[in-house]
Amino acid sequence: MSYDADASPTNWPDRRLARRIVIVGGVAGGASCAARLRRLDESVAIAIFDRGPYVAFANCGLPYYVGDVIADEHTLLVASPEMFRERFNIEVHTNTDVIGIDRAVHTIVVRDLRTGNSRTERYDALVLSPGAAPIRPQLPGVDLPGVFAVRNIPDSRRIRSWIADRCASTAVVVGGGFIGLEMVENLIHRGLSLTVLEKRPQVMPPLDPEVAVPLTEHLIAKGVRLHLGDGLARIDEGADGRLIVVAESGASFPADLVILAIGVRPETELAMAAGLPIGSRGGIVVDAQMRTSDPRIWAVGDVVEVADVVTGQETVLPLAGPANRQGRVAAESIAGRTTQFRGIQATAVVGVLGLTVASTGASEKGLRRAGVTSFEKVYLHPGHHAGYYPGARPIHLKLLFSVPDGRILGAQAIGLEGVEKRIDVIATAIQFRGTVHDLAEAELCYAPQFGAAKDPVNVAGMLAENVLNGDMPVADWLALDRTDALLLDVREPDEFADGHVPNAINLPLSQLRDRYAELPTDREIWTCCSVGQRAYFATRFLMQRGYRSRNLSGGYTTYRAFSAVGRKP
Ligand code: FAD
Repeated sequence: MSYDADASPTNWPDRRLARRIVIVGGVAGGASCAARLRRLDESVAIAIFDRGPYVAFANCGLPYYVGDVIADEHTLLVASPEMFRERFNIEVHTNTDVIGIDRAVHTIVVRDLRTGNSRTERYDALVLSPGAAPIRPQLPGVDLPGVFAVRNIPDSRRIRSWIADRCASTAVVVGGGFIGLEMVENLIHRGLSLTVLEKRPQVMPPLDPEVAVPLTEHLIAKGVRLHLGDGLARIDEGADGRLIVVAESGASFPADLVILAIGVRPETELAMAAGLPIGSRGGIVVDAQMRTSDPRIWAVGDVVEVADVVTGQETVLPLAGPANRQGRVAAESIAGRTTQFRGIQATAVVGVLGLTVASTGASEKGLRRAGVTSFEKVYLHPGHHAGYYPGARPIHLKLLFSVPDGRILGAQAIGLEGVEKRIDVIATAIQFRGTVHDLAEAELCYAPQFGAAKDPVNVAGMLAENVLNGDMPVADWLALDRTDALLLDVREPDEFADGHVPNAINLPLSQLRDRYAELPTDREIWTCCSVGQRAYFATRFLMQRGYRSRNLSGGYTTYRAFSAVGRKP
C-alpha cells in the first residue's frame, strides 16, 4: 500500500483551502459538534473558540468539585486543546472571545483575552454554542466579594478558596432549583450550615408543588433552613465583614458566602447583534437541523429555543443532554446529512443529600400554562423493589396522561432509591409517543432487590389504564372542599385515628363487604386509604354494588403533601 504524501495527517486538510467550520463555545454543544463533524468529514478544517481557559469541561461536576467530592480539578477536564488537536485535528483557541459576526463576508471578530488583540477569522459554516449565563439580578450587593455564581471551573475554584481562606461556616443559596440544591448538598458536605432563599413558595420550581413536599421535608430534616416565597432584595456587608442577605420581606440572613442560583439566560448577544432571530422564549430560533435563519449559521445548546415534544411549544432548556445531541445534529447537517433534532422533553434528575428527584415531560402546572386541559393524573407511592425483600424505599410518583388516548405527558418522582430508573423508562416511552398502556405492558427487570413483578412503572400504567377505562374513576384532591361526595376512609381505625382527611368517615376495607349497606346510595363516595391501593379495592367493590365511587389517588400520603403546600384540598 502506498501513501500520497499530500494526504498525510499533518497537511490534510490544507487549512487555506478547506471548508472552514468555526464553533463558538467549546463545551457541551460545541465540543460534541466538533468531534462528531470530524468523524464525519476529514476534509474540513474545524476551529473552536472559547473565551474561557478550558474547553470540554464537565460543568455538571462543578458543584461536586466545590464540595470536594471531586477533589482533583483535572478530572473535570473531559478533553484538552491538545487532545482535540492530536486526536481530531481540531484547532482550539481558548481565552478567545468572539465579539462579532459579519454575515455578509462570513467572518467573525475574535479578541485574544491575554493580549487584548483582535483579528478576523473566516468561516464557511458557523456554529454558535455559547451557552447560558447565570442571572445576576441588578440588586444592591450582588457584586460584593463572597457572592458567587457557578458556571465554570474558575468560579468553582474561587468558591473553594473563599471557603478555605475565610474558614466559612455559613452560606445562603439564593434559588432552590437544580444548581442551587446541588450547591446546598456540596456546601453541607464541606461542613457549612445552609439557608435557601427561594422566591417561589416551593423548592425545585419545575415540579408540581405537592410533589416537591418530600424534598422540602428532607432538606429540613438535614438541617437546611428554607426560606420560601420570598425573593432576594439586596446583600449588605456587615460590620464584621460577613455578608447579610436581605429578602424582600425584610428577613435577613448572615452568611460567609452567597451562591446566586436563580436561573440562567441564553447568551444571545452575539446572535442578536448579527441580526439572527430570537424567539419568544429568549433563545435563538433554529430549525430541526439546528440551523438558524442564516443558512451558514447553526446554533445549539442552552442558547437555542426548541420545541417541547409534549406541549409542542417552543422552550429553552439548559441541560447537557440536549446540548450534546443538538451539537451532533448540527454536525450531521453541516456534513450534508438530514438528521433532525426531535425536540426536548425536560428529562432531569438531581440528587439532594441522599434523595433523588427526577422528572420528564410536562408537569401539571406546565400543562395548564400550555392550555392543555384534557389530561388526568395518578399518584402512587410504591416501594422501589419488592416489599418482602429488606430495604424497600418508597418512590413518590405522579404520572400525567392525556384523556382519552392515554398518551403519556409527564412524570415526576422522588425517593431514596430507584427513582431515576423509573423516570428514564417513562422518558423513553414519551420519546416513542407511548401511552399508559405501554407502561402497563412494559417488561422490566425484576429480581427482589431491583424491582417488583409489577414494577412501579407498570403499576403507574395500570392505574392510569383503570382511570381511562372507568375501572377506577379518580377524584380531584383540589375539589375536596367543594364536593358533596361522602369521604370514605377505608384504613383500619388505628390508622384513621393517626390522621385523616377532614370530614371523612371510617369504614375499613376489611369490614366493607359486611357493612356497605350503611353507605348512602344517593351520594358519590370518594374513597381514601394510605396510598390509594385499598381505596382502589373499595372503589371496585362499591362500583360493582351499584355505588358511584371515586378514588382519591395516592391516598392520605398525597393528601398530606397537598396540605403541606397549603393547597387546601
Ligand atoms: P456551555 O456548556 O455553557 O458552553 C458554552 C461555552 O461558550 C462556555 O465555555 C463559554 O465561555 C463560551 N462562550 C460563550 N460566549 C462566547 C463567546 N462570545 N466567545 C467565546 N466563547 C464563548 N445539565 C444536566 O443535564 N445535568 C446536570 O447535572 C447539570 N449540572 C450543571 C451544573 C452546573 C453548575 C451548571 C453551570 C450547569 C449544569 N448543567 C447540567 C447544564 C449543562 O451544563 C448545560 O446545559 C450545558 O453545558 C450547555 O451546553 P452549551 O454548549 O450550550 O453551553
